[in-house]
Amino acid sequence: MMITLQQVVDWLKKLAAIYTEQKDFLSKLDSDIGDGDHGVNVTRGFDAVVSALEATPPADIGAAFKSVSMSLIKTVGGASGPLYGTFFLRASVIFVGKQEIDLDSWTAALEKGVQGIEQLGKAQKGDKTMLDAWLPALASLKEKGENDIKEALKAAAHAAEEGMKATIPLQARKGRASYLGERSIGHQDPGATSTFLLLQAASMILG
Ligand code: ADP
Ligand code: MG
Repeated sequence: MMITLQQVVDWLKKLAAIYTEQKDFLSKLDSDIGDGDHGVNVTRGFDAVVSALEATPPADIGAAFKSVSMSLIKTVGGASGPLYGTFFLRASVIFVGKQEIDLDSWTAALEKGVQGIEQLGKAQKGDKTMLDAWLPALASLKEKGENDIKEALKAAAHAAEEGMKATIPLQARKGRASYLGERSIGHQDPGATSTFLLLQAASMILG
């Protein structure tokens, strides 16, 4: 079983719709421990992603991911723009020239993308950032317990959800929320939440 270019485009459109629906919720999470713009940031970013994909349909999955990266970096002012932008740019390298991809290349691309987030943001597991959703999802994919793409993506989304919830008791050590020190404890990280939504949308549309 493979993931097609059309499915990738459908996933990104679905994600833009989900972020629009969840905009207020994501911004509320960010207003608890940040500046309250995370929902606005990802919505603006993914609206631009969809517009660019429609204006210039990508020839392959690598081009699609590169287009996503450029749109996010151009339109999102907050920390999450360059971080998600870097994710898609690094991941795009694995998909150059590919009309369809298998589970192994999806996993390899996710790994490259997550490494990009780590290098740019210098956060680690447990710092209460989006990495707390990305890293368990990547670990789940690498465990290779599943050969079925859909089931593997569902397991990865579930791992991201657990990681997202596990940010609640953590104290933030990176990003704006870290300025709050101990007062960041008791709140769910907005970026981990948008990452869970991204991976949940992938599990609904891909495979
Ligand atoms: P800003 O903090 O600039 O307002 P956003 O509100 O869009 O940007 O995004 C905030 C989210 O970005 C946080 O919830 C966190 O998940 C993520 N984040 C912030 N700094 C880092 C970092 N250094 N590494 C990884 N993720 C980070
Ligand atoms: Mg913010």
